[in-house]
Amino acid sequence: MSAGLNLAQLQAVHYTHGPCLVLAGAGSGKTRVITHKIAHLIEHGLEPRRIAAITFTNKAAAEMRERAQGLIGRRAKEVLICTFHALGVRMVREDGRVLGLKPQFSILDTDDVTSILKDAAGGTTDAATARQWQWTISRWKNQGLNAAAALAQAQDEQERSTAVLMARYEERLSAYQSVDFDDLISLPLKLLRDFPDVRAKWQALLGHVLVDEYQDTNATQYELLKLLVGERGHFTAVGDDDQSIYGWRGATLDNLKKLPQDFPALKVVKLEQNYRSTSAILRAANNVIQPNPKLFPKTLFSELGEGEPVRVVDADSEEHEAERAVARIQSLRAASNPPPEWRSFAILYRANHQAKPFEKALRKVNIPYKVSGGTSFFDRAEIKDLCAWFRLWINSDDDPAFLRAISSPKRGIGHTTLGQLGGFATQHKQSMFEALFNAMLPAAIPKRALEGLHEFGRYINDLEYRARHTHGAEAAYAFLQDWLQEIGYEKHIYDGEESEKVAAARWTNVLEFCDWMAQRAGGQLDEAAGDVITTQSKSLLEVAQTIALLSTISEREKDQDMVTLSTLHASKGLEWPHVILAGVTEGMLPFKLDDDNGRDTDVGEDIVQRLQEERRLMYVGITRAQRTLAVGWTKKRKKGREMVKAQPSRFIAEMKLDQATAQEDYREKFRALQAEFAARAAAAVAAKSR
Ligand code: ATP
Ligand code: MG
Repeated sequence: MSAGLNLAQLQAVHYTHGPCLVLAGAGSGKTRVITHKIAHLIEHGLEPRRIAAITFTNKAAAEMRERAQGLIGRRAKEVLICTFHALGVRMVREDGRVLGLKPQFSILDTDDVTSILKDAAGGTTDAATARQWQWTISRWKNQGLNAAAALAQAQDEQERSTAVLMARYEERLSAYQSVDFDDLISLPLKLLRDFPDVRAKWQALLGHVLVDEYQDTNATQYELLKLLVGERGHFTAVGDDDQSIYGWRGATLDNLKKLPQDFPALKVVKLEQNYRSTSAILRAANNVIQPNPKLFPKTLFSELGEGEPVRVVDADSEEHEAERAVARIQSLRAASNPPPEWRSFAILYRANHQAKPFEKALRKVNIPYKVSGGTSFFDRAEIKDLCAWFRLWINSDDDPAFLRAISSPKRGIGHTTLGQLGGFATQHKQSMFEALFNAMLPAAIPKRALEGLHEFGRYINDLEYRARHTHGAEAAYAFLQDWLQEIGYEKHIYDGEESEKVAAARWTNVLEFCDWMAQRAGGQLDEAAGDVITTQSKSLLEVAQTIALLSTISEREKDQDMVTLSTLHASKGLEWPHVILAGVTEGMLPFKLDDDNGRDTDVGEDIVQRLQEERRLMYVGITRAQRTLAVGWTKKRKKGREMVKAQPSRFIAEMKLDQATAQEDYREKFRALQAEFAARAAAAVAAKSR
């Protein structure tokens, strides 16, 4: 398995009996080390199921599994390749009983969490406040604090009241048999820390743990890793401190600093050759990151030649910037024969909303594109509705799911009734579903309303029973269709939507979802979800169990030939031949640094750190490019509702480009026009022949 690896990479791959850290710059083949090491470990006798490879996203997991399969075939299927969160789900499902959690616990999404928080706070709360609470609680959880500990360390009244709220939130979660995303890390940690049997089991199971993008792990993830590998420390972490861009979400470079102290036997491997980018691109990247303090000194060189100069493209407005980006794509395609495929282009930007003008410009000339890191399929209201039903089959104590399912579609059970039921359930310390069948309920709720509730309860039980006994793709599909018919979901969608077109699109989503569920019941598609092991047919109930986790997984898009639009954060680890970095405008990237009014008093240090993280974001962006790179900025930018005059980002100057070649030249525009003309002519011919 030594093909396609340099000496340093081989060293890292062959070092299997101790802790190993590969620390190296972008594009130096760190991820490649992980895939090859999985193959190497298996070829040297480690059972696939005893290897865990942890990636930053589900998409990265799917890609890694594919690569590993390319190297060693089917055996790669059994390797546990997934995110920390997916690993957490598996651990808690297997061993969560000792924490009082049923294996069928529910996983709450952001919406559920905010509504629980609002509810726990009593009174009326605006969305922004609820989000703020959620954010704070999440931050605490990521620091390993529970409500009591958070209260003990609270600095001011606001933190104290949030900590009190957190206590109520925790109570509710355990009553609902539910966990939030942060729990998927903190609960496994608790399992390993407090239950020696569980710890021994996992440490014995895992023969080697590999972690990609190590620089973006947070404190709890690091603790989890330590407990998983135990003192033996058979693990491989790969990362790049210059690409740490999730500090705002609690990731900490301390994890890199701590490794050599916590594992004195740590073998550190440095990689210096970049196999991704031309020298021109790599030089710009090295120059940009240079002002940041160095945790570990690194050098990076490329042997791919000087390549095209990096271009700077200025524009009057975002719309103009988008037009120029499209022109650039067209001219690059026109410039070579055969033209590069659409999938070799990416447009990257700081924030999701920046995609819009590019989408419009691309549509205008019929260029296929996909927005990655945007609204996932599973975030759509109709899919969430259906998932609420599934969650209820699996865990009838899931009150948020209960409330959503009972009202989608509406079944004549009003708010008052639900309020009464909620009150009754709280009083009797039961979940709402359990309360339905409480012998004392009839005394608390009028007869007619009660009948509706009972009917719903019986229906859920009936569905659960049927789902448990429905196996295989065809049966599952038929079941789902019957069920949607029974609850009148199609009508519900069409009634609730003004525009027929939108309703039709939503209904198509529903059907697509059923189809997808059915395929999973047939035993296909497991790996795409970062799923582990079985590929046998499953009961529909079992399929439903895996759904909650998937709610954050945007399924791996089929490898379609499309231009990628992506945020910089979501572009981590990926590469494209041609990259356009958009909105490299002061105030956008670095983001609003100098017009921060500073709620904090120690803003000084905060600003320095934030600037460094923004600079790393720029570094990540530049290093996604293999062959050409253009950096765009706009002379005006939105600030609140106004348009203000804007300057090129300081990072453009920091790239230290050669001024003579940096400006995109007019000939490109000319070529673009030619290309567009040709495309139009072709389209006209095609239209005629239809
Ligand atoms: P990032 O920091 O962006 O995550 P990375 O260090 O993980 O990058 P990879 O994605 O593993 O880098 O590799 C970058 C590119 O270089 C890939 O296309 C990979 O296939 C290629 N590559 C890596 N190592 C070698 C090698 N030894 N020989 C040839 N190509 C290589
Ligand atoms: Mg990588």
